Amino acid sequence: MKTIHDLQEILSDLGLPDYRLRQIVKNVCQNLLDDYQDCTDLPKDLRDTLTERAPILSIKPIRTQISVRKDTYKTLFETMDGQKIESVLMRFQDGRNSLCISCQSGCQMGCRFCATGTMGLLKHLNYEEIFDQALYYAHLLKKEDAVLTNIVFMGMGEPFMNYDSVIEAANLLSDPDYLGLGARRITISTSGVVPGILKMADEPKQFNLALSLHAPDQETREKIMPIAKRWPITELMDAVETYLDKTRRRISYEYVMLKDVNDTEAQAHMLGELVKDHLCHINLIPYNPTGSQFSCTTKENIYRFRDILQEYGLKVTVRVTMGQDIDAACGQLAQKNT
Ligand code: SF4
Repeated sequence: MKTIHDLQEILSDLGLPDYRLRQIVKNVCQNLLDDYQDCTDLPKDLRDTLTERAPILSIKPIRTQISVRKDTYKTLFETMDGQKIESVLMRFQDGRNSLCISCQSGCQMGCRFCATGTMGLLKHLNYEEIFDQALYYAHLLKKEDAVLTNIVFMGMGEPFMNYDSVIEAANLLSDPDYLGLGARRITISTSGVVPGILKMADEPKQFNLALSLHAPDQETREKIMPIAKRWPITELMDAVETYLDKTRRRISYEYVMLKDVNDTEAQAHMLGELVKDHLCHINLIPYNPTGSQFSCTTKENIYRFRDILQEYGLKVTVRVTMGQDIDAACGQLAQKNT
């Protein structure tokens, strides 16, 4: 099956000039029309041919759930080869509409606290399947008189295990001829794939990097993230320093708060020491239940952890949990009820 990403091929089959391609992409990605029949600057027979031969999306939306507070939407999509993926839109009161997208169906990294990690890897998404999650939501938001403002690669999958497709999708997301989101509004998150961090340091576009650190020491990190055995924390932090030196860009550290695992005062001090000289931001994430052995640190202890980090002069926020009632919060994506 061909999609809008194969238009060049379809148009040359039909013997049509190149400007038609630009016209169609403009209609779909900039004017955000989700039906070729609405592209009134195209001849009717071309609209009919495209409708029949080139669906706009390479993924099929199966179901969208909306949280009770109406601030979180979760969509389950099916790829053309039958795999399931999910994307989550968070609508903030300050007007930001941030979309969390998947780069794989399932994930091979097996982080112990993550529902997706229990699925294993089912498929690497191609760049179209990644990009189209954003295109779908850009179309949906247009109908609500809103726009997509941010993209985070924090859904299913480890972006740096699917590096080329992720970067190709991010480039397209920020291409002014496509969705035109500023590169700084796109965040790519890794669980600690060292070669990916080093490669990203050389990317020409200024995408943001987030590192799911989750522990300041090797022993704890290994317990909750098997990846720590492959790339130990010393090697990981060396890669981060190379990244920071080369890019001069701020890195975000993600830190899920797990009761009695990584949340002691000693660990807060260890983390403070580890990153105090980095241009960084630390995001403390209250753990969302995923049926695993873990539970969330108490609110009081999360704030104590934050206060200790602030003593090191670090910028720290505690993430607001959204979409828990529809299993759309961090670490909860695992195609429940499908
Ligand atoms: S936290 Fe991210 S990298 Fe770890 S298993 Fe879940 S999806 Fe994969």
